[in-house]
Amino acid sequence: MTEKAPKLRAVLEGIPTYKPGRPPTSDGPVAYKLSSNENPYPPLPGVLEAATAAAGSLNRYPDMACGALLSELASRFDVPVTHLATGTGSVGIAQQLLQSTAGPGDEVIYAWRSFEAYPIITRIAGATPVQVPLTEDEGHDLDAMADAVTERTRLIFVCNPNNPTGRSVRRAELERFLDRVPEDVLVVLDEAYREFVRDEEVPDGLEVYRERPNVCVLRTFSKAYGLAGLRVGFAVAHEPVAAALRKTAVPFGVSQMAQDAAVASLRSEDELLKRVEALVEERQRVRDGLLEQGWTVPESQANFVWLRLGERTTEFAEVCEKAGVTVRPFAGEGVRVTIGETVANDIFLQTARAFRAEL
Ligand SMILES: *Cc1c(COP(=O)(O)O)cnc(C)c1O
Repeated sequence: MTEKAPKLRAVLEGIPTYKPGRPPTSDGPVAYKLSSNENPYPPLPGVLEAATAAAGSLNRYPDMACGALLSELASRFDVPVTHLATGTGSVGIAQQLLQSTAGPGDEVIYAWRSFEAYPIITRIAGATPVQVPLTEDEGHDLDAMADAVTERTRLIFVCNPNNPTGRSVRRAELERFLDRVPEDVLVVLDEAYREFVRDEEVPDGLEVYRERPNVCVLRTFSKAYGLAGLRVGFAVAHEPVAAALRKTAVPFGVSQMAQDAAVASLRSEDELLKRVEALVEERQRVRDGLLEQGWTVPESQANFVWLRLGERTTEFAEVCEKAGVTVRPFAGEGVRVTIGETVANDIFLQTARAFRAEL
């Protein structure tokens, strides 16, 4: 037996593995998962029926072109089909964008802290991450991000609203930033939480992209649409970016169940958006409650809130878990808490109050 292992790419060394939000522990009386920004509502009835019907053909490959879903998306969002691409969640599409734009020696800019997939997929591509610290009030520092552009920059992520802090970039500052970015650098507006945005000054990426060939918008069915388990997201971009996404897609990556469930979700959108509205109201209630308890909470336009707990982060997450809600700690930085069912939000608020009283 030799001790030799297959040679792997050196860039893989030190890449952190994506950490999913912990599932709730079940030894307590109740257990709610507020750690992955999922939608607490079950799929709408039409969605389950569509998925179940598609399950009858699991022996067949799915429609590789995602034809029905693309035409539904094209009419829903008023974009040409040629500007659309689907993928295995918007993370899958983000990875395809990196494969399409960046390799060794190239740079990828994003805010930090932001979505934890960005450094992972950047380094897997062999490209160099350029992390630009958030502003004091937990938002993107777009001036510093524009300053960080070099001739090696290939892609810039703008996570709007930002995961995990919830802060959003507004229209005027985004336009000013885009005016400064060279036209041959791809700017990806990651709008995973777009449906939860209520601030009218936060731009809809689909309006921004129309005038700007170097802008690509990412959306997902995982959050507001409640289909996290089916792995389907989409991008809107001009040619040739959309064409590159079709080339880099894993063949048959999006299952027929995912495609049909996504179409059914779009057709039940009114009902779905009512549920989103209820979550937005809960977000307001939770934030107001925390402010009243004396916490500093950045204004969130997403389905979660952020508490910068610094050294007490891990301790706070453990206290929440004991109380029956699992939150998402980023050790040494803070805790991201998903807005879930009312009873779970109440447990979280009570736990935060008790913790605060002992600070
Ligand atoms: C959850 C999330 C996604 C979506 O991931 P999927 O792969 O579509 O499930 C993308 N971007 C951000 C910032 C997210 O928080």
